[in-house]
Amino acid sequence: IDNKLVKAEKMEIVSYLASSISHEVRNPLAVVRGFLQMMDQVDLSSDKRKEYLKISIAEIDRANDIIRNYLTFAKPIPESFDVMNIKEELLRAINIIMPLANMNSIEVEHKIGTFFIKGDPQLLQQILLNITKNCIEAMKSNGKLIIQTTEESDRLTIEITDNGQGMTEEQLSRLGEPYFTTKGGEGTGLGMMVTFRIVEIMKGKLTVTSKVNEGTTFYISFPLVNSYEVPFEKIS
Ligand code: ADP
Ligand code: MG
Repeated sequence: IDNKLVKAEKMEIVSYLASSISHEVRNPLAVVRGFLQMMDQVDLSSDKRKEYLKISIAEIDRANDIIRNYLTFAKPIPESFDVMNIKEELLRAINIIMPLANMNSIEVEHKIGTFFIKGDPQLLQQILLNITKNCIEAMKSNGKLIIQTTEESDRLTIEITDNGQGMTEEQLSRLGEPYFTTKGGEGTGLGMMVTFRIVEIMKGKLTVTSKVNEGTTFYISFPLVNSYEVPFEKIS
């Protein structure tokens, strides 16, 4: 009976994913189509052309975000996770977001120790990407993104701080609600929902503090693995 239930649940998730993705990706596609059509005018000013292009690219990015976030749940969740090196994973994530940070003149600082936790590297990348992207989007001038690790008894905490616009208490309490976004047409309101879900799957905890006009800090904590589970380092 259990097995059947699990299968039924999986089918439900698959059909839910398929309908959500097709429903939501259709909007940005329609917008892009409309703007492309409008660009087919002979007397279009270059300002207008630039504006249409900008909107189209933003919409394509949005469609990409939607697909990426939904597809997290299309893959089966592994029953057990491998041990991974947090330092390697964080440095990889920082490399990925550096171009976006540079484009927005945001300084990135980090202080990261070597720690080992159990989890899925790809899922962790997605958490880090969703959070740091939000941080970058919340900062205007003199933006500074700080990423650090701290260790307390048997847990590791990854702290990600921005000095951006922050959130009101009401916004903070709605963080992670499906489709909650303050970014209007540019947001999806899926990033944090997926992030909370992944943290839960990896047996972690995510807490957030925020102050309007001061900034936001995300604390993601995971149980550290026992020292006997830490892999030997290879010399290559
Ligand atoms: P989206 O980024 O598409 O709006 P998310 O689920 O990633 O969706 O985030 C939901 C909302 O949470 C954002 O629209 C924003 O209002 C708020 N938020 C998330 N991270 C931050 C942050 N670092 N600073 C300020 N607000 C944030
Ligand atoms: Mg986001």
